[in-house]
Amino acid sequence: MGNMMQMMHVANCCPGYEATINNIESNMGLENSKSCSNCNHWQDKRCNINLFDSVLISLDQT
Ligand code: SF4
Repeated sequence: MGNMMQMMHVANCCPGYEATINNIESNMGLENSKSCSNCNHWQDKRCNINLFDSVLISLDQT
């Protein structure tokens, strides 16, 4: 469902975002871009604390 752009928009506005250790290291010096794909809560292509849909909806309303 979520595409890359959505995952970046959501992560930037998500109160639950937690960068994975691997991401912090590998992104040093690169663009410092948050995305669900580098959040600890992203598992099996979905948010394991169910924040994705609610954050995405709140983005649509702004
Ligand atoms: S995976 Fe879940 S907690 Fe992490 S940034 Fe995305 S919506 Fe937020």
